[in-house]
Amino acid sequence: MLNKTGVPTKEQVLSRFFDQEVMIKPKAILECYEDIPCNPCETSCPFDAIVIGENINTQPQLIPDVCTGCGICVTSCPGLAIIVAQLVGDRAVFKIPYEFLPVPQKGEVWLGINRQGNVICDAKIESILLNKKQDHTALVTVSVPGLYLHDFVTIRSKS
Ligand code: SF4
Ligand code: SF4
Repeated sequence: MLNKTGVPTKEQVLSRFFDQEVMIKPKAILECYEDIPCNPCETSCPFDAIVIGENINTQPQLIPDVCTGCGICVTSCPGLAIIVAQLVGDRAVFKIPYEFLPVPQKGEVWLGINRQGNVICDAKIESILLNKKQDHTALVTVSVPGLYLHDFVTIRSKS
């Protein structure tokens, strides 16, 4: 399905998430489903929580016990293939890459978008990080209802 539509299957997506007791802490979700020569995620992680290994074409693997959910890998991935996800009470909190203008502002409510590009919910902007190291990719922290943990992937402006 990925090759035909660019959209991963539900099984592919779920394979990158972890059990609920793990997801109560923020974890990087590595949605990299192709064997491509790429490794900025591995080299950018200050905790060595992402493993690709000697063959650079190998898909990255997360070591969840080591990942702190810091989000550094999110803005280092040229394919925008990484988000950080966490369950906080009845909310799912994400750190996502965002490269469009205007940059969302804290407290705003945007549209929550799934992997098919459809609107699924409201998404509250919790914070934004954008500095020179990130090369115009903002790290946006956003929360949505917890039932969308496996569906939400990005935001769209309401205006
Ligand atoms: S979120 Fe931080 S700790 Fe986790 S894999 Fe990414 S860079 Fe490493
Ligand atoms: S940086 Fe992104 S595209 Fe490259 S291997 Fe890592 S997850 Fe995949």
